[in-house]
Amino acid sequence: MHEISVLSKAVDMVEQIATNQNARAIEYMRLEVGELTGYLPTFFEEYFPIVTEDRPLFSHCKLMLDKKVGEGLCMDCNALYNVMREEGVCPKCGSRNKTILSGQEFKLIDIGVV
Ligand SMILES: [Zn+2]
Repeated sequence: MHEISVLSKAVDMVEQIATNQNARAIEYMRLEVGELTGYLPTFFEEYFPIVTEDRPLFSHCKLMLDKKVGEGLCMDCNALYNVMREEGVCPKCGSRNKTILSGQEFKLIDIGVV
């Protein structure tokens, strides 16, 4: 359920930007969602119509989601691996010692206004 509050914050931000630019409508907004954030993209899709319901600027707005893979660097053998797929364990040496390189981001990348 965290998705609805972070999504609503992102929508507020987009609305603010569009208002500052005197936009008539927002065509799309693009969010980057890392898979290690724990946010499920399907929830964003599901909540988007609810969050934007009473906001006329969003009446034809498309939500675009860029999913980012969770990538880890093993601190013991320097292997790069997919953290979700390997469940946090280095497939090469079995270590859990790692630096997360990507997958923790949640941010607004781009919006399109007219
Ligand atoms: Zn390793």
